[in-house]
Amino acid sequence: MAAVYDRVALIGLGLIAGSMSLAMREAGLAGEIVGYARSPETRDTAREIGLVDHVTDSIAEAVSGADLVVLAVPVGAMGVVAEQIAPHLMPGATLTDVGSVKQAVIEAVLPHVPQDVHFIPGHPLAGTEHSGPRSGFAGLFRQRWWLLTPPEGTDPGAVERLAGLIRAMGANVEQMDAPHHDLVLAVTSHTPHLIAYTMVGVADHIKRITESEVVKYSAAGFRDFTRIAASDPTMWRDVFLQNKEAVLDILGRFTEELFVLQRAIRMGDGAHLHEYFTRTRAIRRGII
Ligand code: NAD
Repeated sequence: MAAVYDRVALIGLGLIAGSMSLAMREAGLAGEIVGYARSPETRDTAREIGLVDHVTDSIAEAVSGADLVVLAVPVGAMGVVAEQIAPHLMPGATLTDVGSVKQAVIEAVLPHVPQDVHFIPGHPLAGTEHSGPRSGFAGLFRQRWWLLTPPEGTDPGAVERLAGLIRAMGANVEQMDAPHHDLVLAVTSHTPHLIAYTMVGVADHIKRITESEVVKYSAAGFRDFTRIAASDPTMWRDVFLQNKEAVLDILGRFTEELFVLQRAIRMGDGAHLHEYFTRTRAIRRGII
């Protein structure tokens, strides 16, 4: 396939940026891929495994001449990074991000974006519990959704060009407004991660059970349910701080439902439990 962009700059070389580089390379979607990383270890690893065409420690060099710039750092760092790259962005370039929260990222990034640059926020609904430059793989986005939340007035041609790149990496693209994105993701991703982290915390605090017993006897429930609690702490700290309202809303509803189930168990109300599990099982079975 012909390249969609001549020069792509990836800012932050972790799971998502690494997977993008490998997917773009596999399908020949970029003339050149440049990667910026802050830490010498990440740069050395990226060079060693040939993750991108060129690795640099200069954010200005990475961005200069790039017709697509991708911010792939934790959501709490997006604003600072946008401020650093702004003076070096090429007129007519597209700037996107892959952050798990959209409204807060738009508020942090948009003030720094020059008039002649297309800012198209995005979020690939694809990931694993692994992080860092070695964790990426070309197939990460295949058959997954990639949501774009362009602010009003964004050039439709620039959106279509970015959507074309994303589709060519194997994902399906849909547009959504940012606050709605944040509420949907609070339900489908953010609150479940918080609950998974909490369950591991609960196991850690029961003094009559040792940590080695939890690890050794981790039955399917604990193992399946807490897989996502192995995810990167910086990324998730930022997600909760940046999607505070929506997460607190969903967490409040979760707590209310949990209290109802707790009471049903205490009162021996089997009919309530059976009806609840039947209804929720039907919903869960609809997710492949
Ligand atoms: P990662 O930890 O694998 O990589 C993030 C990289 O950003 C690291 O190399 C880190 O050193 C670098 N970084 C951190 N702060 C920085 C700063 N101030 N300046 C420059 N570099 C900095 O993380 P990831 O999973 O690739 O996540 C990147 C983004 O993608 C996050 O915003 C996250 O919310 C989003 N995202 C993650 C997933 C997932 O499942 N992991 C899924 C979709 C979207």
